[in-house]
Amino acid sequence: MPAELRFLLPLARRGGTVPILAAGTDTVGHVVQAAGIPLTEVSSLAMDGVPVRSSARAVDGVLDLTPVVRPQRPPTSPPRFLLDVHLGGLARRLRLLGLDAAYHADADDAALVEQAAVEERVLLSQDRGLLRRRAVLAGALVRGAGTAAQLDDVLDRFAPPLAPWTRCMSCNGLLGPVSLQEVATQLEPGTRFTYRDFARCAECGRVYWRGAHAARLERVVARAKDVVHSRLVSSGAAVAQPLCELAFPADGLVTDTCSPRQDG
Ligand SMILES: [Zn+2]
Repeated sequence: MPAELRFLLPLARRGGTVPILAAGTDTVGHVVQAAGIPLTEVSSLAMDGVPVRSSARAVDGVLDLTPVVRPQRPPTSPPRFLLDVHLGGLARRLRLLGLDAAYHADADDAALVEQAAVEERVLLSQDRGLLRRRAVLAGALVRGAGTAAQLDDVLDRFAPPLAPWTRCMSCNGLLGPVSLQEVATQLEPGTRFTYRDFARCAECGRVYWRGAHAARLERVVARAKDVVHSRLVSSGAAVAQPLCELAFPADGLVTDTCSPRQDG
């Protein structure tokens, strides 16, 4: 079994071939998931060297698992994500990068699985039990103990097109440029006099500007671009330009430099 998947097995079973006793009615997919490995982490299966579907009946033999190939193609382009309740910090980082990242702090497992299926979202979770649910069509087990490592893992896995500073970190809505005059009443006097470039969320109305926190977030964006670029280069894929990026010039209004979206 490949190292990328071996860590999902119980400690005592991580060496060599793993013996599994299956019932006569079990499918290959059931056997894999019962061993602790969500099918979301597997790209292909082979029984005694012959490719086999996860829905095939389990028979005696040696089953080989191939982990997902990175970058993984998501159901939609650009990808849409749905994060489970424990990944709120990751959701905010993905939104900073312009990625569509739905997140509800109080969603239960059944609701998450249903929303992911209906909206063709990749369900991101660190809960293997959630990802092993039958109705999960697209999902990914997020590696990493902290938000930064988790972000690296998702970017490395999907290498999505980035559009930093175009999405609301609070609600996932899209940001649009807005003049100081339009938002002046929502700002503290210090902010009003210090900054000139603002963007506003079309969904929740939250106003954004490049404040004192911007340098830290710029480092997150720069790191993200590096991770995606490295994955695309190592996979031999053509390196695409960002689809869209809000520019914050030194003076004047925020300008939107979106180019037409190219799918596929
Ligand atoms: Zn918003």
